[in-house]
Amino acid sequence: MSAPENIVILGAGPTGLGAAYRLTELGHTNFRVIDRNPYIGGLAASFRDPQGFTWDIGGHVMFSHYDYYDRVFDRLMGDEYTLNNRESWVRICGRWIPYPFQNNIRYLPRQEAYECLSGLVKAQSGLGRTPSPAAATNFAEFNDAVFGDGICRLFMRPYNFKVWAHPPEMMSKTWVGERVAVIDVDRALRNVILEQDDFGWGPNNRFKFPLRGGTGEFYRRFGPVLGDRVTLGRTAIAIDHEARVVALDDGSEGRYDHLLSAIPLDILVRDVLRGPVPSHVRGAAASLVHSGGHMVGIGIRRPCPSTRCWMYFPEDNCPFYRVTYLSNYSPHMTPDRDRYYSLLCETSTSGLKPVDGSRIVEDTVRGLIASGLITREETADIVSVWHHSVDYSYPVPSVGRDAALSEIIPWLESRGIHSRGRFGMWKYEVANTDHTLMQGVELVNRLLLGEPETTIGVTYEIAVDGRGEAVHHRAPVAGSGEKRPRPEVVVIPQAAPTPVSSPRTPHA
Ligand SMILES: Cc1cc2nc3c(=O)[nH]c(=O)nc-3n(C[C@H](O)[C@H](O)[C@H](O)COP(=O)(O)OP(=O)(O)OC[C@H]3O[C@@H](n4cnc5c(N)ncnc54)[C@H](O)[C@@H]3O)c2cc1C
Repeated sequence: MSAPENIVILGAGPTGLGAAYRLTELGHTNFRVIDRNPYIGGLAASFRDPQGFTWDIGGHVMFSHYDYYDRVFDRLMGDEYTLNNRESWVRICGRWIPYPFQNNIRYLPRQEAYECLSGLVKAQSGLGRTPSPAAATNFAEFNDAVFGDGICRLFMRPYNFKVWAHPPEMMSKTWVGERVAVIDVDRALRNVILEQDDFGWGPNNRFKFPLRGGTGEFYRRFGPVLGDRVTLGRTAIAIDHEARVVALDDGSEGRYDHLLSAIPLDILVRDVLRGPVPSHVRGAAASLVHSGGHMVGIGIRRPCPSTRCWMYFPEDNCPFYRVTYLSNYSPHMTPDRDRYYSLLCETSTSGLKPVDGSRIVEDTVRGLIASGLITREETADIVSVWHHSVDYSYPVPSVGRDAALSEIIPWLESRGIHSRGRFGMWKYEVANTDHTLMQGVELVNRLLLGEPETTIGVTYEIAVDGRGEAVHHRAPVAGSGEKRPRPEVVVIPQAAPTPVSSPRTPHA
């Protein structure tokens, strides 16, 4: 395939930055990145508040599946990162249970532990509400079949509703893969009866985090590499897909041969596309489901009382589903590592789970007290409060999602519009920073080098007239739950990075 002449990239989040970086690496200079935000990074951006605390848009942990992503991180960050052990917990029944919850039910009160075990045995003997995971038609039934009544009542059902802001009956089971820790009955019995811990964290579960500037620092560093090819503070308001022209809110227009869009797919189709769009495509886009989120950062003038990374909260005594000790990720997330610590609290919202944004800070602080994270007295030491809300936080893998995507994505492709990224592709299972950055990279590899994209689950077959046509199907590789075959390692000569240890390396 000959190199496309002019590529316009909408969105300077990880997807757009990955694409732009790869274009630059391949020596292709005829492209432009446009973002409506005045900053780079999209949902992976970070912010420093006036009190000197740094905040992410929700706790971001980097678990890369890709050697390419790792190499870009090493090139841009050098040795300026910390290496942290993952340590996560669940708050339930007034106590802390190591995550994964289902592997550690021995930490529950006896009655609840019994309920969980007996439900698990029943479910996995085919005597539960849903006879088998294969028979499940949605995520709720999948959970019933895998975990049984007890675990579902105590954790899976309430926790998932808190995260997704949609009932698990609305969600499919196809995205689950590596995103939900499943368990077999023998392992559960062994852990309870032999009193074994099954934490799922340790040396193999380490994650890197930028030493300074939060998650967003990595993405900020794409800025100097891309230079004036990035235009910030400009919104794409119209795309004429017949003329292949993008119009921006400053009145300017630009032609493209190929357009990479990381704009939420429903907004792209509903509000931005101009020209005839088939009604089945519009209908499919309108059927996509998402949640929004409130991120509340609480900075406290006290030494950090814990080595934990993040914690899950399934119960209704607090609004948030997850809280991160963000100050444990790097010594530079607060004004002084020895005197301050920070908690980042995430609450989801949707039409089915309304949240009063004007009260979320107050409700979050109340929830922190109710769930035992801070004491009432400690509230006097809160020196910083940060609130950031996003309309699009989680792309919900709804039951009809894949059918909808198979209507929308190929049609857009036929117009030279490649919708990629967390909300561009709407596939939660491949919507982390590594996946999305690689969606951008892989698209460029396809357009310029003719290589197939593997992350998104779309393969391209050359049609008789020579155009690439998309066939949507479940990805056989990364992110769909199947083990990713290890790609060939290409060694790029560079100085070996020296990890900087986190000041409070959690116990392994
Ligand atoms: C609460 C939360 C927790 C997360 N935790 C993790 C984690 O632990 N680990 C991890 O790896 N990932 C995590 N992620 C995911 C990570 O943030 C995403 O993978 C990544 O940001 C997606 O990149 P993107 O480029 O696809 O989309 P985005 O980051 O959303 O970027 C899209 C960009 O498009 C721009 N845009 C939108 N409309 C227009 C328009 N009309 N014109 C111009 N520009 C426009 C936006 O301003 C935005 O900058 C988390 C996300 C959230 C919300």
